[in-house]
Amino acid sequence: MTQILKMQVSIINLLSGTASLRLRAMDTLFSKIIDRKIPADIVYEDDLCLAFKDIHPQAPIHILIIPKRPIAKIVEATTADQQLLGHLMLTAGRIATDMGVSDAYRLVVNNGADAGQSVFHLHIHLLAGRSFNWPPG
Ligand code: 5GP
Repeated sequence: MTQILKMQVSIINLLSGTASLRLRAMDTLFSKIIDRKIPADIVYEDDLCLAFKDIHPQAPIHILIIPKRPIAKIVEATTADQQLLGHLMLTAGRIATDMGVSDAYRLVVNNGADAGQSVFHLHIHLLAGRSFNWPPG
């Protein structure tokens, strides 16, 4: 195999790997919430993200902020996602302000099953309305 052919194969492998990661994230129930295939209590939406109430709230306020572009987990985000990640953080802050809890709230991102991630579509938990312990469990 020539050097150029080898490079082309590597690029194709790389691109198909990225595509399959994105496809995996697209299959989750959060994608179905984005597509309105399953219901959710939506509190905010724009072109880039959606925010809705967690079905099993761990605090009086428990909102999930998700990108519409599917990313399975935070470690899989790339520099191409930099602006999107900033947007998610700012949106979390805006929602906390709108809900009157800007003085005290916690943002959590679980990355991987052992860290507590159960839905493989990137999401920020916004928790508020009670006091929180540190270190977290
Ligand atoms: P993770 O464990 O992946 O960090 O967080 C996933 C969150 O999604 C959990 O807090 C869980 O309660 C929430 N969740 C799971 N299924 C649904 C659902 O169908 N609707 C909503 N609104 N939240 C869900």
